[in-house]
Amino acid sequence: MTELETYLETIEPELRVMTRLFGFPESVWEEPKRFVPQAEEDGSAYRITFRSEGRTAVCSAPVPDDPDERIRTLHRKRAARRLCKQTLYDLCKELTGIQPPWGSMTGVRPTHLMLEALAAGLSPEEAVRKLTEEFDVTPERAELLAEIAGEQRKLPPPGDRWMDVYIGIPFCTTRCAYCSFSSGEIGDGSLVAPYMSSLEREMRACAGILRESGRTIRALYIGGGTPTALPEDAFAALLENTVTLFPGAMEYTVEAGRPDTLTRGKLRAIREAGIRRISINPQTMNDRTLEAIGRAHTAQQVRDAYALAREEQIPHINMDVIAGLPGETEKDFAYTMEEAQKLHPESLTVHTLAIKRSSRMSLENHPLPDGGMTANMVEMGRETAREMGMKPYYLYRQKYMAGNLENTGYALPGHACLYNVDIMEETSHILAMGAGGISKRIWPEEGHITRAPNVSNLRDYLTRTDEMIRRKEELFLPDPAGQGGN
Ligand code: SF4
Repeated sequence: MTELETYLETIEPELRVMTRLFGFPESVWEEPKRFVPQAEEDGSAYRITFRSEGRTAVCSAPVPDDPDERIRTLHRKRAARRLCKQTLYDLCKELTGIQPPWGSMTGVRPTHLMLEALAAGLSPEEAVRKLTEEFDVTPERAELLAEIAGEQRKLPPPGDRWMDVYIGIPFCTTRCAYCSFSSGEIGDGSLVAPYMSSLEREMRACAGILRESGRTIRALYIGGGTPTALPEDAFAALLENTVTLFPGAMEYTVEAGRPDTLTRGKLRAIREAGIRRISINPQTMNDRTLEAIGRAHTAQQVRDAYALAREEQIPHINMDVIAGLPGETEKDFAYTMEEAQKLHPESLTVHTLAIKRSSRMSLENHPLPDGGMTANMVEMGRETAREMGMKPYYLYRQKYMAGNLENTGYALPGHACLYNVDIMEETSHILAMGAGGISKRIWPEEGHITRAPNVSNLRDYLTRTDEMIRRKEELFLPDPAGQGGN
């Protein structure tokens, strides 16, 4: 097997994503497979060929080089995989005539590519041109990336001396139909006390790891799940422990996604802990849809929660909405946007519905909404954010998204969420606690990330907390037990 063939050995899942972009059924990957790459290399260039229905696509690219063997291998592997996907993209486009909004950008972070191009010395205009030419992205999307990159460059730059902190609370009042997270319904609350006790142990240990690693906390995010689903006393204790163990972050956020979980007492606890950013997420302001997606709250409860949070002087409220929810028309989405404007959030994240495998919608074989209609909703979200004076500052894409679109975060000037940018760009170390939290160590030179995931099952987390702590010691401390480093 040649070096190039080795790099492509496990590429099929990425090629499947590519054929899905063009609406090919999964059966094209059954034997005999319809799309098989032919890989050739001559020492200085890689060459990939795909053939189908009498059409041929051929692409070639220079073989990257670097004196460091590890970096050389990483760059070569990346180049080979990108080339293979691009060649298949060209063939699929020729066969179907379809132009996906993000072109051949799959399995890569679009903003990452823009930032990479700018870091290489290109002007924003040149970077837009490069992305449209190399990846066939529409000019509107490439310009959006340039605008986002401009906003991200205003934020404090990431670096090895910083660490973000994530604390996960895996409880929700009910489960949303599109949810693929591991969080469970809080039910009778019997798991809250044991969970909070294990979490506190992990938080204390992690505060020590942060100190010993010699790094400084950057942004802290309490997410889940819905942290505000906790009873008031447990919630207040969590916030107090958080700011005591992890003081001095540039930014603290608490996810308060479900408006029906907010009380005056919890909002006061947030304010008294000095936390300035929360997220109250309607997803839609249409009661019929809220019921259909299992949110178990009303649009009026969203309005009430915003009013209460304002009364308690929470200075930054983020709002999440989803384009393409079941049964919604463009008119329904326009109504959500009108109502959003009346609530004056400081930031707005417009998601596109994605039906992920472990969600109820996937299990019920719910189809994705029409791509064209969802694209119009996403555009409406973009216009609404601009009308509110917001700028786009982060963007990401997921598998199984309606219309192969994107999720975009917008914020008023000075309100971009540092944690959101860090997590999406994967430019900052993350120390994550709680069931399902994933700690990450970034190796920017190599373009490599080492992960230490916590178990996502709540009961497993309770019995294996010490192991979760050890995993993070191994990730971040040079020699935790005097037996060698990372
Ligand atoms: S609020 Fe979020 S974590 Fe909770 S069920 Fe809904 S999508 Fe899942």
